[in-house]
Amino acid sequence: MKNKGLLLVVSAPSGCGKGTILGEILKDDSFYYSISATTRAPREGEQDGVNYHFITKEEFEQRIAQGGMLEYAQYCGNYYGTPKKEVEQMRDAGRDVILEIEVEGAMKVRALCPDAVFLFIAPPSVEELRRRLNKRGTEAAEVIEERVSQAARELSYADRYDYIIVNGELEKAIQDFRTVVRAEKLRTKNGNKIDEVLNHA
Ligand code: 5GP
Repeated sequence: MKNKGLLLVVSAPSGCGKGTILGEILKDDSFYYSISATTRAPREGEQDGVNYHFITKEEFEQRIAQGGMLEYAQYCGNYYGTPKKEVEQMRDAGRDVILEIEVEGAMKVRALCPDAVFLFIAPPSVEELRRRLNKRGTEAAEVIEERVSQAARELSYADRYDYIIVNGELEKAIQDFRTVVRAEKLRTKNGNKIDEVLNHA
């Protein structure tokens, strides 16, 4: 029988290279990226059902009322939430599910799912984050400063995660992510039994 997959909760301030790291990790089919629902408008190039399930505020509130969300949060005036059913189905099928969510939603999952694993991806420093956002050049100066102060706020949550992955060198960060996953599969806490660990050996 297949082991139940891990629930990996990943948060990172914007500009940390989270997308690049997860892009590499997700090349391995054993992972499943949970597609969130949101009320924000799609950005150019984003597709419904691929990047997010783009739904209206009314639909979102209906799903909350029906208990369809594992967690949800408001971020910059929009709702974001994790559909509950999919996460359970994928884990039961043995896939390692990745939730890429902001810090407040992550703390809700911490309370609801004691077996989840929490990873925080951090920039080497706030200064370096500012430098990267400037280099990317996609945002105006005041937007960059807003993102930098948001990042500083999010960084204050990092200590509450199980692991902090510093994205200084991309290759090393990806390797660290894989190491965490491997270690979690071999650990006996969280209810892993010897038979399950042997399955991974
Ligand atoms: P963006 O609008 O840039 O795609 O996402 C804004 C923030 O919302 C990011 O920090 C992202 O991780 C977070 N986010 C995306 N989906 C979810 C979700 O389902 N729940 C929560 N709590 N946050 C989410």
